[in-house]
Amino acid sequence: MVHELSICNSMIGIVREHAAGREVRTVHVRVGEMRQIVPDTLVYCWSLVTEQSELEGVELRVERIPAKIRCASCGHEGALRELAFVCTTCSGNAVDLIEGDEFLITSLELAGV
Ligand SMILES: [Zn+2]
Repeated sequence: MVHELSICNSMIGIVREHAAGREVRTVHVRVGEMRQIVPDTLVYCWSLVTEQSELEGVELRVERIPAKIRCASCGHEGALRELAFVCTTCSGNAVDLIEGDEFLITSLELAGV
């Protein structure tokens, strides 16, 4: 949870900067599956760190992005299963993680917009 807390603390900085004094209703974030982040914990931490600040009550919506890999040998792209970095088509292990490691604040919903 310490991890989620520090993420929320840095998110506050980003949200404040983007909101530039405007009232924020909802913050949308996109979290890759490979990130060691539990969405519910993130939402809980968000409510803790925003408590008694101007961001108190702002809803955090977390979108989970499944991990996806691409095989360098055959070009096959697919979901990463059970953390096995092996191509399911040719069994090659020269695979790259192409999705699932992101952490992005995708949008802010502002009041009265
Ligand atoms: Zn392959």
